[in-house]
Amino acid sequence: MARPLMERFLSPELVPVLELATLPTPVEALLGLGEFIGCPALYVKRDDQTGTAYGGNKVRKLEFLLGQAKAHGAQTVLTFGAAGSNHCLATATYARQVGLKCIAMLVPQHNAHSVRRNLLAGFAVGSELDLRASRAAVAAGTAAHFAREYLHTGHLPSVFPAGGSSPVGCLGYVNAALELEAQVEAGLLPEPDWIYVASGTMGTCVGLLFGLGLTRLKTKVMAVAVTSPPYTSLGKANKLFQAVAEQLPGCSGTPFPEERFVLRHDFLGEEYALYTEAGCAAVDLVKQRAGLHLEGTYTGKAFAALLQDAEKGELREKTVLFWNTYSGVDLSPRVEGIEYHQLPAPLHRFFEEPVQRLDRAAG
Ligand SMILES: *Cc1c(COP(=O)(O)O)cnc(C)c1O
Repeated sequence: MARPLMERFLSPELVPVLELATLPTPVEALLGLGEFIGCPALYVKRDDQTGTAYGGNKVRKLEFLLGQAKAHGAQTVLTFGAAGSNHCLATATYARQVGLKCIAMLVPQHNAHSVRRNLLAGFAVGSELDLRASRAAVAAGTAAHFAREYLHTGHLPSVFPAGGSSPVGCLGYVNAALELEAQVEAGLLPEPDWIYVASGTMGTCVGLLFGLGLTRLKTKVMAVAVTSPPYTSLGKANKLFQAVAEQLPGCSGTPFPEERFVLRHDFLGEEYALYTEAGCAAVDLVKQRAGLHLEGTYTGKAFAALLQDAEKGELREKTVLFWNTYSGVDLSPRVEGIEYHQLPAPLHRFFEEPVQRLDRAAG
């Protein structure tokens, strides 16, 4: 049952899907860490291991996004993100695997070692990296790419939104919820009371929320915002949820299950991709106590929320599943031998300017 969504609710004729991810991803108990922080029944969903070329949460979305792009005969995909976007890197990596070119429209972000590494790795898989100073400049640049691609290939690029969080991309996380149900039924973990997950463009948490509604699980979703509204907001979650419902036969109009969804903004800090003391402390703790590698933009902030709830004693009696959305693939072999001057000139500043104050590790 590698893709239960396809077996139970959809067919490849309805929704073309490419099997890019290594599924199901494992679930593991983090009993030592859980005991230490006051959440004895703590588990992790290893979506760091979704792929061998690149892991993390974007791979599940790309199975559906690239499946649709291929079915439509696209030759190029165009997508959006911040300079160090994991989504743009994942898209470039898997687009190339299925024979498509990738154009990444990027905007500036706070500098970090991971920004440098993702830029080099994207370049290594042939991504066109186009940094623009503002969202308006991204729109103008996108129009120019459309014209150029159409003239050169006779096709328009397939466009994936930032984070891959289109209704079709979300199906990857609807499937993930069904995958979790199968793992609970197989006795690999008890039924979680809560899933803790980082939320940026919201496709991951909304897909999970929708998918849980198709299962017997009562699990609730604790979505920890890592960007501010309108990217991450309850209104956005509602809209995306309705749009996902439209993708599935007989699901149109499914009411948004408010009682099983919490969106919190208390661990974002100042802004997206700016690390926080709490987030970095969480990254260090999880590394020391469980050997798992989190990072400061997404997963560290999400785990910091879990940590605070555990310290307050709220998770002592709960079964908690931390959804690890960050790729565990070591990119150093891929970027070896690439020198940043090979990248487009506007990107050089990320290699010449310092990284942000809290960025200690080269992760
Ligand atoms: C993109 C990303 C997220 C956020 O997922 P959304 O579906 O955009 O909410 C979380 N963690 C990591 C590591 C990511 O790269």
